[in-house]
Amino acid sequence: MTSVALPEITVTKPALPPLQDYVAYLEQIWASSYVTNNGPLLRQLEGQLRERLQSPHVWFVSNGTIALQIALHAANVDGDVLTTPFSFVATSGALLWERCKPVFVDIEPRYLTIDPKKLEAALTPRTTAILATHVYGFPCAVDELAAFARAHGLKLIYDAAHTFGCELHGKPLVGYGDLSCLSFHATKIFHTIEGGAVVINNDDVLAERVKLMRSFGQWGENFRCEGINGKNSEFHAAMGLCMLPRVDALIAERREQVLLYHELLDSSEAVLPKAPEEGFKHNYAYCPIILPTAAISQAVLDDLAAVGIRARRYFFPPLNRLAYLSDTRDCPIAEDIAGRVLCLPTSTDVIPAVQHRVAGIIHDVLARSRRRIAGDHVAS
Ligand SMILES: *Cc1c(COP(=O)(O)O)cnc(C)c1O
Repeated sequence: MTSVALPEITVTKPALPPLQDYVAYLEQIWASSYVTNNGPLLRQLEGQLRERLQSPHVWFVSNGTIALQIALHAANVDGDVLTTPFSFVATSGALLWERCKPVFVDIEPRYLTIDPKKLEAALTPRTTAILATHVYGFPCAVDELAAFARAHGLKLIYDAAHTFGCELHGKPLVGYGDLSCLSFHATKIFHTIEGGAVVINNDDVLAERVKLMRSFGQWGENFRCEGINGKNSEFHAAMGLCMLPRVDALIAERREQVLLYHELLDSSEAVLPKAPEEGFKHNYAYCPIILPTAAISQAVLDDLAAVGIRARRYFFPPLNRLAYLSDTRDCPIAEDIAGRVLCLPTSTDVIPAVQHRVAGIIHDVLARSRRRIAGDHVAS
C-alpha cells in the first residue's frame, strides 16, 4: 500500500468560508451595534432561507433541538408520540423534555426510516403525533405517514436535521408534514455554527405561534403566549449568509465522495444504503455503511483510528435502548443496524487518496474475517 502522508481525518469537519467574507459581516455588526434579537442579518438570512426552502414560514432558532421542542410545544403535542429509534439522541430527547412519551416504531431496512406498516400496532388512545427523522437525508414514506396521520388525527412532525438541499418531487423535503425542524449545527452540510429552523407548512396560525414562542411569547409590549428563548444572534446569521451561497458546491463535492465510496466498496459484503433515485434529489451529507457484524464494524473503526481516520457510529445506541428509558418497545431492525453501521468521513479534506485508504482498510478487515471463518471451518 502507498504511504502518502495523509491529514488527520474526522467524519464531520465543519466547512468554513474565507475569513474575509465573515469579517465583512463583522464590520456591519460593529457599525450597527446590533448583535441579536431579530437583527438585520438574521432577517436577511431568513429571507434567503424562505426562498431556498420555498416556504413563507421559516423561523431561524438557536439550534436544532430547540427547533424540535418549539415545534412540539407550538403544535400542542402531548401524551404518546410515535417516533423512530434510529436517529440522533436529540429526537427522543426533545420529546422527553416536552414531557411526551416516545413510542418507538421500528424502521424499514432499506432507507432506515420509520416503517409506516408498523405504526398501527403502536397506536394508543393517548397518541397525538408522529415525530419521524429523514435519517441521512433519506426521505421517510411521506405519503403513507401523511395518510396515517390524517386518518388518526395526529400531528406529523419531521426531524429534518439532515435534509438541507434534499428535494422530493421537485419540492424541498422540509415542505412535507405539518412542521419540519432543521439543524444548522457546524457538522451539518449547511451550518450557522449553532442554529436551526422550524418550517411550518400550510398553517399561518401555527406559524405565528412558533414565531412568538421562540422569543418569550413576546409581541411588542405584550406577552401573547408562553415562550422560551430560542432566538439566534447576528454572528450566527452572518455565518449562514457566508455558507448559503456555498452549499450547492459543498453538496456537489460530497456527491463525488459518496459515489467514489460506493464504487470502491460496492463489491464487498458491506451494504451501502442509497437514497431513492426516482423523483429525489439527495444532499449526500453522510455516507453510511452497514458492516456484516458488530465486531467487524468495531474492527473497521479501530483500524481507521490507527491511521488517524475517525469514522463515527452514527447512530448508536438505538434510541429505544437509552439506559434512562423504561417501558420501551423492541425494535429488532434498528437495534441490529445501529450495532453495525458507521458513517465514513466526508469533508473537504477527504481527498480520493484518503477514500482509497479507507476502502482498502475496510476490504482488509472483511478479508481477515473471511479467513477467520474459513479457519474455523477447517478446525472444526
Ligand atoms: C444534529 C441533529 C439534531 C440536533 O441538532 P442541534 O442543532 O445539534 O441541536 C437533531 N436531530 C438529528 C437527527 C441531528 O442529526
